[in-house]
Amino acid sequence: MNAKTVKLDGGLYFVATPIGTARDITLRALDIFASADVLAAEDTRSLRRLMDIHGIALGDRPLLSYHDHNGARVRPKLMQYLAEGRSIAYASEAGTPLIADPGYDLSKEVAEQGYLVTSAPGPTAVATALTLAGLPTDKFLFAGFLPNSKAARISAIEALRDVPATLVFYESPKRIGAMLADCAATLGDRRAAMCRELTKKFEEIRRGTLNELCLSVKDAPPKGEIVVVIDRAGQSVVNVSDLEADLRDALGRMSVRDASEMVAGAHGMARRKVYQMALGLDRADEDG
Ligand code: SAM
Repeated sequence: MNAKTVKLDGGLYFVATPIGTARDITLRALDIFASADVLAAEDTRSLRRLMDIHGIALGDRPLLSYHDHNGARVRPKLMQYLAEGRSIAYASEAGTPLIADPGYDLSKEVAEQGYLVTSAPGPTAVATALTLAGLPTDKFLFAGFLPNSKAARISAIEALRDVPATLVFYESPKRIGAMLADCAATLGDRRAAMCRELTKKFEEIRRGTLNELCLSVKDAPPKGEIVVVIDRAGQSVVNVSDLEADLRDALGRMSVRDASEMVAGAHGMARRKVYQMALGLDRADEDG
């Protein structure tokens, strides 16, 4: 067992847990699970499994279920534990609590009541996807899950069109095709990445423009958990060799006009400028 028992102050400890690989857990997280007076989890079975893997016994400590559907009923019980000076470790099913996961109301109430609320940070799919997407990370907006209904989804995407930041979404494999198509239609054919099964055996990153990803998802429907990362509109610094590589690739498959239109859209550049460049490349390739 890697965990050691430590003396915790009374209060609420939000603990991040792995998003796939069980060993992606911090030593401090294990110490908190080993030492808290009370454990609470969105999914008690997942937490028990994680503790088993890491050799942490629950003993006779209470383990409470706390999620969006029972929060109002269970919160008073947790507040009571805090009033008695006990320490509570809370984990959501995977990743960081409150990131598209329960915990917000609890965090707010505990802070308002003046008890200690703290966090043992760790994995989250949003940061992992940003690390791998190959898109700018200077500014990003995490938009969580888009609405299920088409009309609501399109207006949610429209509201993000002019945000000068990389956009990050969580999505299910069932809706990924519709989501990518709506994003392409609403945002334009921006660069994007579909990041799947992060930290797991079948981790996969598909990079391309939104339209390319739509085709790829049609050809090979993805399974598992997915994060979609989308570039901002026309703001990114264009890497000339990436641009040339994309143009050469497109010129191999389509006319100069179509290739420049597609690549200009993907890089957020003026079509005329890319057209001139495509003509140059096309001529150079013919001459060579
Ligand atoms: N709290 C979690 C976090 O910190 O990332 C997110 C929980 S949310 C209910 C679950 C969604 O997160 C999945 O549907 C998927 O979009 C994304 N996600 C979680 N784990 C992932 C993984 N290993 N690979 C890709 N996406 C993941």
